[in-house]
Amino acid sequence: MLHFTCDCCKRVIDPERELRYVVRLEVYAALDPMDSELEDEHDHLQEIQDILDRLDDAEDERISDDVYQQKRYDLCSKCRNAYLKNPLGRVGLHELGFSQN
Ligand SMILES: [Zn+2]
Repeated sequence: MLHFTCDCCKRVIDPERELRYVVRLEVYAALDPMDSELEDEHDHLQEIQDILDRLDDAEDERISDDVYQQKRYDLCSKCRNAYLKNPLGRVGLHELGFSQN
């Protein structure tokens, strides 16, 4: 039987007794348009995709890691709640000043 471990607290997650959550992180370089802040979002994404396509051909994988990284984590429900409260791992006091929305 497959079993999963929470990537945060390292506890084994029993799928028959609790939910397992998956966090997918996508971090990529923000390639801002040179002259217009109102650039169409789709064009922007297409631009990134074009660059990524080119980087796929690059021999040095470390360069593409600098531009684009995707990560996946399994979390137990407890760590999932904690993660959602503070996804960027900010220090609590600092976060209080910016939590309004
Ligand atoms: Zn956990």
